[in-house]
Amino acid sequence: MNHVFNFSAGPAMLPQPVLEQAQREMLNWQGTGMSVMEMSHRGAEFMSIAAQAEADLRDIMGIPPNYKVLFLQGGASSQFAMIPMNLLRGKRTADYVETGDWSSKAIHEANKYCNANVVTSTKASSYTRIPAFTSWNRNPHAAYLHYTPNETIRGVEFPFVPETGDVPLVADMSSSILSRPVNISQFGLIYAGAQKNIGPAGLVVVIVRDDLLDNSVSGTPSLYDYQILADNQSMYNTPPTYAWYLSGLVFQWIKQQGGVASLAATNARKAQKLYATIDASHGFYQNPVEPPYRSRMSVPFMLADKHHENLFLAEALESGLANLQGHRFLGGMRASIYNAMPEAGVDALVDFMQDFMPRYG
Ligand code: PLP
Repeated sequence: MNHVFNFSAGPAMLPQPVLEQAQREMLNWQGTGMSVMEMSHRGAEFMSIAAQAEADLRDIMGIPPNYKVLFLQGGASSQFAMIPMNLLRGKRTADYVETGDWSSKAIHEANKYCNANVVTSTKASSYTRIPAFTSWNRNPHAAYLHYTPNETIRGVEFPFVPETGDVPLVADMSSSILSRPVNISQFGLIYAGAQKNIGPAGLVVVIVRDDLLDNSVSGTPSLYDYQILADNQSMYNTPPTYAWYLSGLVFQWIKQQGGVASLAATNARKAQKLYATIDASHGFYQNPVEPPYRSRMSVPFMLADKHHENLFLAEALESGLANLQGHRFLGGMRASIYNAMPEAGVDALVDFMQDFMPRYG
């Protein structure tokens, strides 16, 4: 098979032109005769790659100067612990919004360090909506409020940003960063595992407001202390240099696409086409998420008749549509349509779904 549209959730969905550029530069980066992988992370070449990546991310996200940008390892899950370690600032409680499997994991981890006050939870109804902000039971003593703007597995996305006033807002943007513009100054801290819209798995990007840096709880390991990491430009220990470099190529690609706003328009069209196909199928395809909260990045769907699922997946693959199997928690199908998925891929999927339905409906 020469070409497939890969609907996998990852790890790592990189735009094709970025992979091609990385291939061209693999053995000889800009005439140095070296691969980026082999360069000293403290040498002039890699320092310029790192600085450019940060400058480009600041540019495409509009990150103000009073925020640090950290390129760390340990994936998004490392932040489930690092956030309470660094942001409790002497308090004993933090607010958490439970809207899916990832926020639930964040809550589990935070409870090791504080009382994670669950302000609202949709667990009992299988995570298919986002409760109105006004209904949340916030604790007036909370050190911060944590939420997950896009719950990757269930495909549930916030249509609003919670307005928490003086309480720092913390967002796990692993599966939504760079998919639409955000106003950084609404947030105290944003983190994102790289593997959806940034770069290879393992890297996590943390964007944190300066006043939240210097407050880690005693006993915090140096490697997990934001202030120490910021003071060392994310090089307290050997950083994941190749992942950092590839992320920088993705940021440049985003600029070439016209920036995040332009990607957001494409993403909205991609998602709309897919949900319209599901909703017009009279139940042949089903997505359980209430329409205002449907994700533009990860679209789970089921077939009314489960017996046809394997056939759907096999025929889809024959048509060049790969990795549409659903998450192991949910079964069914899932189309991950991150920035790297071209609109033509969604068009091909929609054509396939419309062709499959009358044959098995
Ligand atoms: N948070 C969200 C929203 C995710 O989608 C993921 C993984 O996809 C994670 C956290 C965990 O990321 P990692 O595996 O990089 O730790």
